[in-house]
Amino acid sequence: MLIYIDLFYKFAKFPEKKGSLMCGIIGFTGKTDAAPLLLDGLEKLEYRGYDSAGVAILEEESIDVIKSKGKIQDLRNKMAKSHTPTGYIGIGHTRWATHGEPSDENAHPHYSKSRRFAVVHNGIIENFAELKEELIGKGYVFHSETDTEVVAHLLDDCYTGEFFPTVLKAIDRLVGSFSLGILCKDVPDKLVCVKKASPLIIAVSDKGNFIASDITAVLAHTRDIYKMKDDELAILGPDSVQFFDRTGAEIHKDIEKVTWDVDAAEKGGYDHFMIKEIKEQPEAIRKTISPRIDDNNNIVLDGISLTPEQIRGFNRIFITACGSAYHVGVVAKYVIEQMARIPVEVDVASEFRYRYPLVDDKSLVILISQSGETADTLEALRESKKRGARTISIVNVVGSSIASESDDVLYTWAGPEISVATTKAYSTQLTLVYLLAIQFALAAGTITDSAANELVAEIRTLPEKIEKIFEQEEMIARIAERYTYLDHAYFIGRNIDYAVALEASLKLKEISYIHSEAYAAGELKHGTISLIEPGTSVIALCCCERLVEKTISNAKEVMARGAQVLCVATEDNKSCASICDHTIYVPKTHPLLMASLEVVPLQLLGYYTAKSRKCDIDKPRNLAKSVTVE
Ligand code: GLU
Repeated sequence: MLIYIDLFYKFAKFPEKKGSLMCGIIGFTGKTDAAPLLLDGLEKLEYRGYDSAGVAILEEESIDVIKSKGKIQDLRNKMAKSHTPTGYIGIGHTRWATHGEPSDENAHPHYSKSRRFAVVHNGIIENFAELKEELIGKGYVFHSETDTEVVAHLLDDCYTGEFFPTVLKAIDRLVGSFSLGILCKDVPDKLVCVKKASPLIIAVSDKGNFIASDITAVLAHTRDIYKMKDDELAILGPDSVQFFDRTGAEIHKDIEKVTWDVDAAEKGGYDHFMIKEIKEQPEAIRKTISPRIDDNNNIVLDGISLTPEQIRGFNRIFITACGSAYHVGVVAKYVIEQMARIPVEVDVASEFRYRYPLVDDKSLVILISQSGETADTLEALRESKKRGARTISIVNVVGSSIASESDDVLYTWAGPEISVATTKAYSTQLTLVYLLAIQFALAAGTITDSAANELVAEIRTLPEKIEKIFEQEEMIARIAERYTYLDHAYFIGRNIDYAVALEASLKLKEISYIHSEAYAAGELKHGTISLIEPGTSVIALCCCERLVEKTISNAKEVMARGAQVLCVATEDNKSCASICDHTIYVPKTHPLLMASLEVVPLQLLGYYTAKSRKCDIDKPRNLAKSVTVE
């Protein structure tokens, strides 16, 4: 048995934070019909992306829920066909499925068994499986596959005879991210909400009071809002709002006046979705990994039914994907091969499917796609299955074609990604690759349990380290300004640095329209170096500890020919600063996880370069978010 303990360092453990990036909640209690306000508010939240929608209205001690897969318009059509609930208090939801595919049944709101409560939820209940088992044991019947439905039944189970104490009691049982809007038929004018790791605000207006995921949903009615913090609750009445902490003690909050317009509000005050999503990466990573890591840093991969014996039975892993997801695959090859010593082949999906791949029942094929609808990747999946391979997909959209057709699926819980140029989907895909690689290595016996635990502890630190990199944003923006009139750029690196160079180069070119190429640093001198002339920009990725000196030598080769070199290095490597024109430092992590950190300043570089060139960053020319044609 090979034990690659020498690959692993000793790591400190950091406290874990949880985040959520899911879709839309709205709620209203006031002096006018709730349904139209809720539907209009949900439409304002549409930009966040969603797959289904619904509302619950409380009138005369009964709660009426109506919900539908698809768009708000589908919900409106359903109401037109059946009925539109009336009443002055209600909650509404746009769902981005995480547990259970998009469907009418899985759409929110969810009733409790007694129909005393109705709930809308943004986030993920990490301990839903054990709660569900417990509640089923007590006779609760589940009508959906969602994690959210446990919250509804739990409210019945914790019922004290009073609305608010029941909520306090129920949420004490929840682990994960849960921003909630709750109705209780016993209290026909009060709405209770909780914020936990998903956005939530309270807005007050002449018509009544609102809860909402963001201010876009309420801007038509008011600019007076309260920002909720994690672990805060509120009770809203038509003319009153009270705030509480998790112990039930009342707290004071100050009202704020919103000055943003709708466009700025949608982007959370940022200029573009891309930069908003870059900044969401720490949260997206926490959300993706935390339900899959237990308190002892063991990995629990919810979507994977493979046994260690089956993993040992594979003689080869194929990874196939397109664009940035393919670049995740290139990182994965380095990581899986070094960690688990299993041969890995990476292909762009459009090539894989036509090359008569040598895939058989001893092969594992991993498909990576943000949308889960990428046509070439879907066909590669079908081709692999035809040849008898076992398939795992890494996908962001629950219930998408690739997710549904693969044998196992691991979802990246990055939330909807709106910018065409991916950032948070790429980063969350990487983290799932790490978890898979560790599982493969454990099954293959190439790492010990304690080495695996240390690696997992290090993965948990990535979000904080990425937050640290954001401190250099201004400096990176200044460097980017110098790239405004650039015609060409070359990214070089070795090993994982090379894999990241591919992604960094794509990021720059797709949004700034600067011609850019990525090279394995050692390969440059076999041809492309002839393009280097005085003033050519080269970005050298120097984070791969084992090979950094070699990449620096390659950087010196291009500098000797007049190139301007920007270097990305780990913070302990001070030699780069004395050699290169500019250096961006990133924190250190385990060498096999470095991609997650070094890509971040390069996403920022691409973003700010495109910004200084005044490009249409969120919708680059000729590109679509989801490529569903061959
Ligand atoms: N986890 C919940 C579900 O899948 C909520 C998703 C959301 O935030 O929209 O239904």
